[in-house]
Amino acid sequence: MKKRICIILCIILIVTLSACTCGTSEASFQAMDTVMSLKVWGSSDACEKLEDRAHALDERLSPTCADSDIYRLNENGSAALSDDALSLIKRTLELSAQMKAYFDPTVYPAVCEWGFIDGNYHVPDDEWLAALVSLIDSSDVVVDGDTVSLKSGMSIDLGAVAKGYLADECREILYDSNASGAVLNLGGTILLYGSKPDGSDFKVGVADPENPAGYFGYLSCSEGVIATSGGYERFFEQDGKRYIHILDPTTAKPVDNGTLSVTVFSRDGVLSDALSTALFVMGADKAAEHWRSHRNYDYILLSDDGKLFITEGIADSFTLADGYHFEIITVSQEDAYAKKQP
Ligand code: AMP
Ligand code: MG
Repeated sequence: MKKRICIILCIILIVTLSACTCGTSEASFQAMDTVMSLKVWGSSDACEKLEDRAHALDERLSPTCADSDIYRLNENGSAALSDDALSLIKRTLELSAQMKAYFDPTVYPAVCEWGFIDGNYHVPDDEWLAALVSLIDSSDVVVDGDTVSLKSGMSIDLGAVAKGYLADECREILYDSNASGAVLNLGGTILLYGSKPDGSDFKVGVADPENPAGYFGYLSCSEGVIATSGGYERFFEQDGKRYIHILDPTTAKPVDNGTLSVTVFSRDGVLSDALSTALFVMGADKAAEHWRSHRNYDYILLSDDGKLFITEGIADSFTLADGYHFEIITVSQEDAYAKKQP
């Protein structure tokens, strides 16, 4: 009899535990100047920890929040930083060194001058632009222990990578919380973790730059981080011309190369986020070259002539939404080989 009661109690316990771990928790909040929404399976307390982490990182990495590490660094030209700010700066400097003409966190004085921080939009004159260009060079940032120092007049902005870093941090939290799966939309940077309760692939919409609330297509994929950069996220118009918040570090001017949006998929959040910005600046041809010489990520690049470039690793996982008629061009390794032929 005792044995039977024990077995029944065990069954009840197992059923109760699996009911808890299969539950869905959701949260939505504002951080890093954007709205974030979380959906987590199999862990009841992960959402709270994820939200706390997002706010904590926002407080450390924001260039405008008066107590943040980045604000102190930019104000004083030198500062001892928290582990988060330090490790993200180091990684950002490494990535910038590899693709400096396209991705450089020291574009911040130019981002401010164009008005993308305070909303006081205007087109700087050529003299100002030349002065701004002279301040852009990530190799002038010095890291010594936990202290980072900048050249006089220089300032930095981790806006191009902060959400990717948060995605990587969230992955650790989900793992430690024993979550079985999650879809975290961190303001357009999306972390896909584990698996959905029904085991099907994640399906992520890619925003239509002409109508960012809608999607021009869908990507089916497993775990990873999807980051999108688009001029539509922040821009102003003057004399019929659009000026966007992604700048060319070599000119200090908004990028104007025909790229409308770039979506990058990789396992690494900081890499996805940095590359979405960098490939946007590169434009279609150089982006393809970069991918061919690295291949540790995939991307979708939409240009204003209606061409949609998709790397071969995700080409079969992408579906164009109804009503869109882009010319889809698969970027493959073979093209490079073919081009090299006499
Ligand atoms: P994202 O939306 O990830 O492409 O990041 C864009 C943000 O990064 C901008 O709002 C700027 O603050 C900053 N930024 C703009 N251009 C660059 C660039 N070429 N390299 C690094 N950061 C940039
Ligand atoms: Mg980015």
